[in-house]
Amino acid sequence: MPCARQWKSWTATRKAGVNKLIRVPPLSCCKIRKVAEDFLQRFQPDALHDDATDIERFFTVTIAQKMGMVTGSDDLSPYGDDVLGVTEVARKRSFVSSELYNSSSAVNQRRCRATMAHEAGHCIHHVAYARLASTTAVGTLFRKASDLKPFENPEWQAWEFARQFLMPEAVFRRCLAERYTASDLVERFDVNRSFVETWRQILRQRDANSARRKTADFIR
Ligand SMILES: [Zn+2]
Repeated sequence: MPCARQWKSWTATRKAGVNKLIRVPPLSCCKIRKVAEDFLQRFQPDALHDDATDIERFFTVTIAQKMGMVTGSDDLSPYGDDVLGVTEVARKRSFVSSELYNSSSAVNQRRCRATMAHEAGHCIHHVAYARLASTTAVGTLFRKASDLKPFENPEWQAWEFARQFLMPEAVFRRCLAERYTASDLVERFDVNRSFVETWRQILRQRDANSARRKTADFIR
């Protein structure tokens, strides 16, 4: 599944066309947060306190060992232009672009960290399901991306996992409360500024929605 910004099994991609995504069980923000925190608790508890997540070790060692996947970096040009990551369901392989991985630029190194976390999200949440679904022919596996609600969309789920795994929500909120600047957050979590800003905006929007719901309940 080419993951410039899309995820699918590669064999399925060719059959299904580029505008379709595999349909996966819905996952809420809370569920994804819990899974990410549980993994961090077991794998690197310090990431829930002071350290940046060691995503490279998690992706190349933990995912490989615990999930029986082959993971690492590879030349992804056969998958198309600008493909940064690929997770192949049928072959249980997950790779990030070797060009990205070997880049000496700090922006690319941080982009590589985000891509590894995104592919790890696919490995954790989608590979076993998609393999089971393909052997048991459960339902229709493909839908247009536009037909999917965000929490049913495997791309959204993988990015939510990546955000929660690299910038654990409780830690991120604590940093915001302590008035970390954008540059401080970039350094603290070792991710690009755009990733930090996206997460900040998402959490702000969720807080606003939650406050609106509480007000509506109070009026009712
Ligand atoms: Zn993806």
